[in-house]
Amino acid sequence: MPTFGLVDCNNFYASCERVFQPELIERPLVVLSNNDGCVVARSQEAKDLGIPMGVPLFKIRNLVRDHGVEVRSSNYALYGDLSERVMSILADSAPRSEVYSIDECFLDLHHLAVPSLTEWCLDLRQQVRAWTGIPVSIGIGPTKTLAKLANKLAKSSPRTGGVLDLVHHPQWREPALRKVAVGDVWGIGRRWSQMLEAQNIHTAHDLSRASDGWVRKRMGIVGLRTVHELRGIACHDLDTQPDPKQTTCCSRSFGRVISEKQDLRSAVITFAERAAGKVRAANQVAGALQVFVSTDRFNKAAPQYGSAATVRFALPTSDALHIVCAASRALERVWRGGFAYRKAGVLLLDLSSAQDQPRTLFDPRPAQKDHLMQAVDAIDRRHGRGAIALGQAPKSRPPAWAMRQDMLSARFTTRWSDLVTARAKPDGQSIGE
Ligand SMILES: [Mg+2]
Repeated sequence: MPTFGLVDCNNFYASCERVFQPELIERPLVVLSNNDGCVVARSQEAKDLGIPMGVPLFKIRNLVRDHGVEVRSSNYALYGDLSERVMSILADSAPRSEVYSIDECFLDLHHLAVPSLTEWCLDLRQQVRAWTGIPVSIGIGPTKTLAKLANKLAKSSPRTGGVLDLVHHPQWREPALRKVAVGDVWGIGRRWSQMLEAQNIHTAHDLSRASDGWVRKRMGIVGLRTVHELRGIACHDLDTQPDPKQTTCCSRSFGRVISEKQDLRSAVITFAERAAGKVRAANQVAGALQVFVSTDRFNKAAPQYGSAATVRFALPTSDALHIVCAASRALERVWRGGFAYRKAGVLLLDLSSAQDQPRTLFDPRPAQKDHLMQAVDAIDRRHGRGAIALGQAPKSRPPAWAMRQDMLSARFTTRWSDLVTARAKPDGQSIGE
């Protein structure tokens, strides 16, 4: 029988913060979205206080004060790095794996010759915890949808020890399906869940018993696959070779509004360089570029403006020099004075594989230019992103367009100066500093 595992990091961002800040353990902790806007992650203790997902910080000020809730800005350098470490352990442990999101990974456990899959998963859980400090839960099912569902129960019920196997314990499948609300089934969004609730379908179990014809009519083939998966018929295999991206974007909401053209230009040029770097990292080239800018749409009192301009490249490119020049030209077309800008971004479009590009007569030294970009990428990898940049963007630190990150923890794993130092105490114990 096909056997899928779904490994999901528990309260991932909050757990990452705790790895290097042990004082946060067992305390209510929330992590905020970009510009310190809304809650995007909560520790169990914060969930227990009733802090909802997505709530703006200002609405929970009293709770934060009264219960000493710890608040952190999101630290994607840290989360990204810890995610890679977790994923590499998982990739080594199973024959095939699919990274599904920053904190979730499907495993193919079908041909794993082990006496007890539950024991094996408990060991894997221990290993990830010991090597990275991140707690994970593992759900096992004959389909991806059931593995997801098992994971949800493994996480919420301490009795499972963080692992629930619905393949080797088929008798648990029905009770498991009865426990999960239909809206929590993988692939059932808000619209479908409202429609299903109205039809008296409240749990995953109810949905698994709906008739094929009815499901097909109301939810199409995609919904029917979900229902079959709930019944244990695998419709989705691991997606180990994700489709190459068609577009790449780098955009930000600014920490404060920007009215000066040179500040907006500095932001757009920086985004263009980053987007170019992403495209090179994926070994792709872009056929066109779009720059977009907008004012703060939540500030009803201020005059509103938003615009976008697209530039097509004569030849598809990943060269930062071309891309930054095009971004600069596009910005000239969208810029209007007299507005307070809150957001800007650069989108690279019409991406294709770098290998498939024809060489042209009018580009006699393509290899040399590639070397320049390779050197830039190597310096960035070694010394951190932005270590080297084109002379176009005026450098002020922090730039006017920087995100608000008032409660940012250190980049413990990706910056030498932020490494934690450990000291040996006279009694032989070592402590973090
Ligand atoms: Mg998670």
